[in-house]
Amino acid sequence: MPSSEAGTVHIIGAGLGGLAAAVRLSAAGRAIVVHEASGQAGGRCRSYYDHVTGMVIDNGTHLLLSGNHAARDYLKAIGAENALEGPPEAEFEFIDLADHSRWTVKLSPGSIPWWIFDKNRRVPQTKLRDYLPLARLLWRSGDRPLSELMPCSGPLYDRLIEPLFLAALNIEPLHGSGELAAQLLRETLAIGGKACRPLIAPDGIGNAFIAPALRTLRERGIEVILQHPLHALRFEGDCVAALDFGEDTIPISEMDSVILAVPPYSATSLVPELTAPTAFRSIVNAHYRIDPPAGFPRMIGVVNGTSEWVFALPGRIAVTVSDAGELLQIPRAELAAKIWHEVAAITGLPNDLPPWQIVRERRATFAATPEENAKRPGAVTKWRNLVLAGDWTATGLPATIEGAVRSGHRAAELVETRRTWTRAA
Ligand SMILES: Cc1cc2nc3c(=O)[nH]c(=O)nc-3n(C[C@H](O)[C@H](O)[C@H](O)COP(=O)(O)OP(=O)(O)OC[C@H]3O[C@@H](n4cnc5c(N)ncnc54)[C@H](O)[C@@H]3O)c2cc1C
Repeated sequence: MPSSEAGTVHIIGAGLGGLAAAVRLSAAGRAIVVHEASGQAGGRCRSYYDHVTGMVIDNGTHLLLSGNHAARDYLKAIGAENALEGPPEAEFEFIDLADHSRWTVKLSPGSIPWWIFDKNRRVPQTKLRDYLPLARLLWRSGDRPLSELMPCSGPLYDRLIEPLFLAALNIEPLHGSGELAAQLLRETLAIGGKACRPLIAPDGIGNAFIAPALRTLRERGIEVILQHPLHALRFEGDCVAALDFGEDTIPISEMDSVILAVPPYSATSLVPELTAPTAFRSIVNAHYRIDPPAGFPRMIGVVNGTSEWVFALPGRIAVTVSDAGELLQIPRAELAAKIWHEVAAITGLPNDLPPWQIVRERRATFAATPEENAKRPGAVTKWRNLVLAGDWTATGLPATIEGAVRSGHRAAELVETRRTWTRAA
């Protein structure tokens, strides 16, 4: 049973940041209570039953890369390491809807990028020298928009860099943070194909990231209280003294710890003088209830279309559009038909619109610009028993599962270190 000898850890928010912290700390035997505002854990990474299509869908198909080591450690810790699926090698298929040309970029496994020397593996119409600015980006210091740090045009940009950075940064890469883009490169292309295998959860992100975490926590005697929104933090001196949930208030002793793992707009309303990102970007997902054609690739990148990534999943096809602000004004039925028209052209399926759902996440991630990146706070606060977690804290990564999980692990580490310090004192 978890021990409260070293104080109880209250985790506010059951998104991936909060769950990763809970899983880590519960493995160390800590007494934990997780408080979640909504009726479901998972936050921005959740699956649910959609009555319109009669399917369980994800709020967005989440793409990871094999180099996302914290996310994979988390999956291992909750017994879900087999929930992600991907090709044995780092291969990315693309189609250009302007001329219907198709190509596959096949990265070589190691850190020497042999693939860029091979016309059959690199991006069509590119030359070796086109790849040099990517190497230079790795060594840049200071944060500026990507457009000021490397050429943002030409076949390499249009056919590989823009689709990959747009998916990872969730912002038109021209305006994206060069620092975040460089860190992505360091953790992926610079390591080589073994860090770049695309991974998705074909049976849904809920079955991969959330349900097994809740099961693990339950087995460890950890309570996750749903529909329990924190209304206010009460401070005394340099500590949090109480958690105010409106109808109930929980006193917090100096031995207890609070991990605030809520989105930035909630955190700034709870923590005085907290600086955090204030601009956001949306993601739109279209889901269609239909069997993908046999042999169709699990995912394909789309250039010159509204669709950006098309995922072929069991009994359904899902399409992701990042930085999708322009699509938010389009009526949903019109958008579903427009995207399906492209999917039909790509897959060869009939033009008749299958049962569909459009999911619009308006504040999917903070806007990954240099300005917003500079506003991200570290995990430590000026209150001794309060730490922050979430994809928007200063993880050095864009707002991704990997960043959220790392932030949760960091918060857990800080809470654990504090316990060691308290005991030694
Ligand atoms: C559509 C979409 C597609 C995405 N695609 C990808 C992808 O392909 N790859 C990838 O790596 N990442 C992707 N992401 C990003 C990824 O989902 C997030 O980075 C990650 O889920 C963030 O986790 P988090 O714990 O930081 O925040 P959240 O998931 O926002 O969790 C915060 C939790 O706090 C709760 N909360 C808020 N206020 C309170 C309160 N006052 N009291 C109690 N609880 C509160 C919320 O309800 C929520 O459950 C995508 C995101 C979206 C929306």
